[in-house]
Amino acid sequence: PRGTVVVLGIFAADLAFRAPRLPRIGETLLANGFELGPGGKGSNQAVAAARCGADVKMISRLGADAFGEIARALWGGEGIDLRFVATDDAAPTGAAFIYVDEASGHNAIIVEAGAAKKLSAADLGAAREVIAAADIFMTQLEQPIEAALAGLRIAKGSGVRTILNPAPAADLPDEVWPLCDYATPNESEAGAITGIEVSDLESARKAASALVERGVGCAVLTLGAAGVLVHSAETSLHIPAVDAGPVVDTTGAGDAFNGGFAAALARGEAPERAARFACAVAGLSVTRKGAARSMPSLEEATRLLARTGAAG
Ligand code: ATP
Repeated sequence: PRGTVVVLGIFAADLAFRAPRLPRIGETLLANGFELGPGGKGSNQAVAAARCGADVKMISRLGADAFGEIARALWGGEGIDLRFVATDDAAPTGAAFIYVDEASGHNAIIVEAGAAKKLSAADLGAAREVIAAADIFMTQLEQPIEAALAGLRIAKGSGVRTILNPAPAADLPDEVWPLCDYATPNESEAGAITGIEVSDLESARKAASALVERGVGCAVLTLGAAGVLVHSAETSLHIPAVDAGPVVDTTGAGDAFNGGFAAALARGEAPERAARFACAVAGLSVTRKGAARSMPSLEEATRLLARTGAAG
């Protein structure tokens, strides 16, 4: 069985400008490169989960514009169910300004969720039946928190397992944590949520314990090239990252992980095994440029796991 994953989240057209520095106010600077690509955490995660074999249903809002058409074409091409994707005539599709610092390769980003800012509890209520019938409900924090909370409540109330990727970092009400079977922050998000600076495995365990104390079923901390920590009241397991070749672009690594993790859980894999699979998915994604575009297929990830001997 493929398993069904319902994703609440946004699409954003990523507009990446490569330049030597940020312009000052009032200044116009010539860039040295531009790329337009599909982004948005929810969209990236949905694409990753679909490529990893899940039956994915998207809950989102787009504008009636060219970027919205790009989103629909992307999702449609991946076989993602668009019945709960609304089009708004009065608001733009999400977009992100990405400044890529030429010298360091580091970036600075402004995201505007656009029409997806209007995602509300009512949108989640309208999708109640598909959420309740899913294997996994997954969301992030680029759309309003009320929408995320509503989705998590419906899922939890129907016995559907939930994943919250608490990104970007935001102030969250205490009630959110007991609604999360899995919370998947990266190091800086885990630090922002718990107040514990995560710099190594020991501090990661402390932060993960703090999340479990707040009510999270299983804290899954992604640690970049150091892999992932899967931590619950019963177990604490460090899973190393998977080396799939030279690292080209880590954009979307976290999204690849979340999409792969959701797909594996949805088809019935245990959390530890699902996290191993997700590390292979993320490991492959960092060897390619782009976010949604860099997501590997189920076959690629499975082959890599078999080769690296971590499939068990
Ligand atoms: P991003 O913001 O770049 O999308 P993130 O900060 O959300 O990523 P990370 O913790 O950096 O998430 O990475 C997520 C997962 O991707 C890691 O748990 C790991 O499995 C994989 N990963 C990240 N960087 C590397 C790397 N250099 N080599 C192999 N795997 C990596």
